[in-house]
Amino acid sequence: MLSESFEVIDPRFTSLVFENVHVEKLWTGARWTEGPAYVAAAKHLLFSDIPNDRVMRYDEVSGTVSVFETPCGFQNGRTVDPQGRVVACEHGGRRVSRREHDGTVTVLASSYNGKKLNSPNDVVVRSDGSIWFTDPTYGIDSDYEGHMATSEIGGSNVYRIDPESREIAAVATDFAKPNGLAFSLDEKQLYISDTGLSHDPDGPHHIRVFDIAASGRELSNGRVFATCDAGVFDGFRLDCLGNIWASAGDGVHCFAPDGTLLGKIKIPEAVANVDFGGINRNRIFITATQSLYSVYVRVNGARNLARRVG
Ligand code: MG
Repeated sequence: MLSESFEVIDPRFTSLVFENVHVEKLWTGARWTEGPAYVAAAKHLLFSDIPNDRVMRYDEVSGTVSVFETPCGFQNGRTVDPQGRVVACEHGGRRVSRREHDGTVTVLASSYNGKKLNSPNDVVVRSDGSIWFTDPTYGIDSDYEGHMATSEIGGSNVYRIDPESREIAAVATDFAKPNGLAFSLDEKQLYISDTGLSHDPDGPHHIRVFDIAASGRELSNGRVFATCDAGVFDGFRLDCLGNIWASAGDGVHCFAPDGTLLGKIKIPEAVANVDFGGINRNRIFITATQSLYSVYVRVNGARNLARRVG
């Protein structure tokens, strides 16, 4: 008998979770949590409280949450790159930046074709060093999660930063509101969510998957991978078996690589993002509206190719 924290939709889900493990509520007190990123070397999880313009830090050793940085440029999504550096999306600065090991900040992208980015939302780094990010308008739609402004680009695109030339290229331009993104285990495919439902009752609320060209520079063959039955998929991550754990309005939805919905982790607040953490990467951290939750699972989070072969 599984704990009430889980809903099994496909029997395969029972091999991924523990019968007697429950979701833990670690902290509350934010306005909108996002951007969880587990920094293994520091044994802490960084996450955003976007409307309050602060980065929070969950110390896994002491179990305490404190303010890591404020103001922070209304940071949203973030990731840890293969070198262990934190790469973050900033609504306020309308840029993607990287915190170097010495504490300095490097701006990786702030414009495209001479026009300011909208408000970068989420980011992933491929093992070849390329950085891929989404750029919807949530941070410029109002002054709540950034600074209200008109889009200079006039669209919400997905971009790739070249690791050598640092050139920024648009790799997908047919999204309403591109949001979370993650690579397949072999990094030959890229999953990207579209949260266009937030601006249009008939808008998209799905994850699409694309093939990455052998050059590593272009996407093709985009098709819908899964459609959300409770709100939208915002951020999501893969486990080491290739299953996708996606944020949704009623919790975290787990999909098999073939797109079958296996089950849900039930959370009493709308979920914006997740990350696998803990030293063994078997603890899912969940940012959900005002709070931070976690749950241990049987499966470990994916590591990108650079870390798996290194
Ligand atoms: Mg997002």
